[in-house]
Amino acid sequence: MNAPRVSFVSLGCPKALVDSERIITRLRAEGYEIARKHDGADLVVVNTCGFLDSARDESLAAIGQAMSENGKVIVTGCMGATPDLIREKHPNVLAITGPQAYESVMAAVHEAVPAAYEPYIDLIPPQGVKLTPRHYAYLKISEGCNNRCTFCIIPALRGDLVSRPAADVLREAERLANAGVKELLVISQDTSAYGVDIKYQASVWKDREVRAKFLDLSRELGEMGIWVRLHYVYPYPHVDEVIPLMAEGKVLPYLDIPFQHAAPNVLKNMRRPAHQEKTLERIRRWRDICPDLAVRSTFIVGFPGETEEDFEILLDWLDEAKIDRAGCFKYEPVGGARSEAMDLPAVPQEVKEARWHRFMQRQQKVSASQLQKKVGKRLPVIIDEANGLAARGRTKYDAPEIDGNVHIQSRRPMRVGDILTVKIDRADAYDLYGTAV
Ligand code: SF4
Repeated sequence: MNAPRVSFVSLGCPKALVDSERIITRLRAEGYEIARKHDGADLVVVNTCGFLDSARDESLAAIGQAMSENGKVIVTGCMGATPDLIREKHPNVLAITGPQAYESVMAAVHEAVPAAYEPYIDLIPPQGVKLTPRHYAYLKISEGCNNRCTFCIIPALRGDLVSRPAADVLREAERLANAGVKELLVISQDTSAYGVDIKYQASVWKDREVRAKFLDLSRELGEMGIWVRLHYVYPYPHVDEVIPLMAEGKVLPYLDIPFQHAAPNVLKNMRRPAHQEKTLERIRRWRDICPDLAVRSTFIVGFPGETEEDFEILLDWLDEAKIDRAGCFKYEPVGGARSEAMDLPAVPQEVKEARWHRFMQRQQKVSASQLQKKVGKRLPVIIDEANGLAARGRTKYDAPEIDGNVHIQSRRPMRVGDILTVKIDRADAYDLYGTAV
């Protein structure tokens, strides 16, 4: 009997990608085959994203495409939390399940196309099936979020924080490392809040008990001998404790902190976690302990009520904080977000636009001067793409997909996943250029 074939569409952020990996892992484990095209597959699963209105549109379009090319469609992911929106446009989808509802996705798949029964054949590699390249992997440590930022609907979609026990996370990390993964990207909605919901409960890992705590988990991950990168960390005081691990080389000297803004007014209106912290002072102290720490962040300009003065505070803050990499979004109203009901004056579209350009210009200068400091150094670089004697890679200071690259020449062929020492010859505004030594 031929294995049933499932076509899979994964939309949204790296967090959704991890959900997709898990579903695909399960599908394969149960004997399904993953099809490359909707056409000819027995079923399509669409993992949707509902974070911004534009993402919802993209999700609805993907569902529409799957319906017309195949007709048997199961919808899961963030948009599954608002089934009416989906049914309104696509009344004939087979089933709709919410985010992280692995069991219900599988139940819907079983009902639509029962799995082939092959009890002696287990094709699943122990590290699971990954959609990301083999040499790095996203490690999701919790679901949901206890914060209530006013522009965000993730807590409404995904609920409060639910942390995985530390031993669970570490087992997965070890499996990935054993499968050849060289870099782990730790993700969650709020990584520094890890374990709060389960009162930092300890679990047994190897011969010891490990608390479900940001520091304890980072320390254990740091013992695995691979690169460990921390994403979505907030500048709470306890983050200070992790910086020495970075200075010792256990965890990458990299922090992804979505600051979103710097002006106290705007941060207050956004209800950002840790918004009262003196972040500049904190970053300075971190760099005293770990001088090569790279800080990446994202910001929103044009949040309702943002004045010219607030915006200038943000620009000055960028100069002072010396943020290595920054992404910037123009505020977009999200249906259901509290920011829309706050009675704050909207920032006109053309002002948002202009502020976005001013932000990017200022940040480019900061990034470029941070990158310039790397010229002449010999740095370890992980290879993401290799083409004989030329390759593209990243230093410890850059995460895949969101930060910059190192373009490398070598006298020897390079392979994806290698970590090489590269002498940095020059830098432009985004990338580095160097020679393997
Ligand atoms: S921290 Fe704020 S922006 Fe991030 S998921 Fe939680 S509520 Fe949303």
